[in-house]
Amino acid sequence: MTGKVTINRHGTDRVLNGHPWVFRSDITETEKAEAGEIVEILSFKRRFLGYAFYNPLSQITLRVLTKRREKVDQEFWRRRFVKAIDRRHSDPNGASRLIFSESDQLPGLIVDRYRDVIVFQTLSFGMDRLKGFWIDLIEEGLKPSAIVERNEPAVREKEGLTKERGIVRGGLSSPLMIEEAGRSLFVDPLEGHKTGLYLDQSENHIAAARYASGRVLDLFCYQGGFSVPVSKNADEVVAVDSSVPALQMTRQNLDQNRIQNVQLVEANAFDTLRSYDERREKFQTVILDPPPFVATKEVSGARRGYKEINLRAMKILSEGGILITCSCSQNFTPQMFYDMLLEAAHDTHRELQLLERRGAASDHPVLLTFPESNYLQCWVLRVI
Ligand code: SAH
Repeated sequence: MTGKVTINRHGTDRVLNGHPWVFRSDITETEKAEAGEIVEILSFKRRFLGYAFYNPLSQITLRVLTKRREKVDQEFWRRRFVKAIDRRHSDPNGASRLIFSESDQLPGLIVDRYRDVIVFQTLSFGMDRLKGFWIDLIEEGLKPSAIVERNEPAVREKEGLTKERGIVRGGLSSPLMIEEAGRSLFVDPLEGHKTGLYLDQSENHIAAARYASGRVLDLFCYQGGFSVPVSKNADEVVAVDSSVPALQMTRQNLDQNRIQNVQLVEANAFDTLRSYDERREKFQTVILDPPPFVATKEVSGARRGYKEINLRAMKILSEGGILITCSCSQNFTPQMFYDMLLEAAHDTHRELQLLERRGAASDHPVLLTFPESNYLQCWVLRVI
């Protein structure tokens, strides 16, 4: 920890206010700082602010680790790891996120558990350099039957890291199945989206089942995260995805749970909505869970996409109908989401009540000083 990085007043204020990132544009001077190393952060008055991972290749050049003068060594990492795990109360037959990056003060580290299989990601350069250490610690602390690396997210490129995927310890006895709200779901830790499935939506899947009734349209269904639980209180569910493998996984999950009232449709969700609207077909519940529409600060295209699907969904809902609408674009803020819904409601001349503003499951906590961690919206509205 010999390198020092000095930042301007703007960066200093952000760090003092608790934001864990310093952008390249806020850096004024570097001394002996090497990529991937832990450096001392100095304020614009050259006062000590803390220690951070340094990566000059990334726009997010500093990732704050601590604001105290303390050794950032293996003991430091071990303490943070144990604390994050102790904060979770997880069901041994279920799935949960054990470590959520900045929200658990471990910037760039994701650790998810599917029964006794651990899937991890190291998404920052500094964390990736510690990969071997994390694998050993996971093995020693959690004693999993397998450890899987899913280092494919595009953010790794921005850090100067390559894509990597594979089983790094133990072996997978497929198929792996987890319990979510009394239902079984297949998980493929090697091929499934993200680290296997959409763990951040797990509590929203359960909540949706409380609201859904009648004829339900589940758009962007992936492997049936919403369709499986909502089928219980629904007369019929139409589950739509453009991906055949996703629909095959949904089929497996439906069969496994002996669910018979879900119809699978391979289609572009935008077209599906348009054709139901043109045919004036009605649904009592519509679920919208699209992939992220934007990965940059330029959100106008995403705004149009969100508005299009939400507007159509509002039109095909019957009186008293429920809209469960999600966004997982980090740059599309809750305020933008609100404004988009307001415009869509206005254009459709429909009056809506906002019943619940939900976010990611509680094992993906939002760090108050880090609004970027509030990336997932799952809002429930009713047409009145
Ligand atoms: N609702 C799921 C997660 C959805 S992920 C759950 O809770 O588990 C987003 C899904 O949207 C992916 O399965 C992807 O195949 C699908 N998708 C992406 N673009 C689409 C489009 N234009 N039409 C239909 N599905 C699409």
